[in-house]
Amino acid sequence: MTKQFFFTPGPSALFYTVEEHLKKALKENIPSISHRSKAFESIFSFTVKNIKQLLDIPEDYHIFFTGSATEVWERIIQNCVSNESYHLVNGAFSERFYQIAIDLGKNPLQLKSEPGSCPDINKLLLSEKNELIAITQNETSTGAAFPVEEIYKLRDSFPDQMIAVDVVSSAPYINLDYSKIDTAFFSVQKCFGLPAGLGVWIVSPKCIEKAEFIEKSGYSTGSYHCLTSLKAYAKKNQTPETPNVLTMYLLGKVTEDMLRIGINQIRKDTAYKAAVLYHAINKSTRFSPFVTEEKYQSKTVIVAKSNYPANEVEETLKKSGMIIGKGYGHFKNNHIRMANFPAHSKEQIELLADKILNLEN
Ligand SMILES: *Cc1c(COP(=O)(O)O)cnc(C)c1O
Repeated sequence: MTKQFFFTPGPSALFYTVEEHLKKALKENIPSISHRSKAFESIFSFTVKNIKQLLDIPEDYHIFFTGSATEVWERIIQNCVSNESYHLVNGAFSERFYQIAIDLGKNPLQLKSEPGSCPDINKLLLSEKNELIAITQNETSTGAAFPVEEIYKLRDSFPDQMIAVDVVSSAPYINLDYSKIDTAFFSVQKCFGLPAGLGVWIVSPKCIEKAEFIEKSGYSTGSYHCLTSLKAYAKKNQTPETPNVLTMYLLGKVTEDMLRIGINQIRKDTAYKAAVLYHAINKSTRFSPFVTEEKYQSKTVIVAKSNYPANEVEETLKKSGMIIGKGYGHFKNNHIRMANFPAHSKEQIELLADKILNLEN
């Protein structure tokens, strides 16, 4: 079998050091250690320290671990919203966040835009009753990304609302000032190049206060995980449940590697590789960027419209060992999606771009 390279937008290629860390983890019996042991506590604190340093998270913010980003959507609504959240919706993931608020019996509002664009934040009107603005910074289903400046503008316009940002398919690339928002989250199988099954939740003290308020009002903030219990356990470098210890360990190691490479280098390389891919789809007669406004074009998930059946493109690339993503949902047959994560080397991206340009007509 030809060696396969995964350019899928998650799960995706593993970060190149994962194999080595995994071998070491097995040798050190990481999957067998107790989650109440000193050994676990030091994995917890090491991983938290590295995440905070890599993303430049404010000192008083917390890092908690969950099952996935999907879980965090639910927990944010339960812990930070009594009644009304406001969602910027421009694709399947942001829509799901909104839908979860409905499922949990809240009264969310939404500002929608066409897929492939971002809602116009100048149109956002909030009443005083609104508690939280939910933003999907990088909409993985369409490749549309909010510039961080727009998030900061929302912060300035709405100082009383909490702001929650889904950075699942953009962190650590996205250079977001976390002190300007209240909560953010990601899953590790996207830009961190790890096996799926771990979510990371970044939480400000304001979110904790809100969760305490909701609990005091007699409502549940979640039973498997809620902010108050996550915080109580994290204080001891522990989690309420038996967590995904192995992936927490690997995340600590990979963030350490990323710190060694340097976040600026990772961001510079990501921007370069994105330019290579956009150049290829702009130049090709077969593809064009689905996101037409440059300021909204994601650097980490590149989505192209294809005037050729997407599954045939996918099959052709597969023969060269390149696995790309199909379009999301009803775009399945006319889009291709390519991940540009830290795990993807310049050489691999250049080869992919070359292939895209030279697909036979
Ligand atoms: C993948 C993804 C999620 C969901 O992540 P899970 O690990 O499947 O829970 C949420 N938001 C965005 C933007 C994503 O790309």
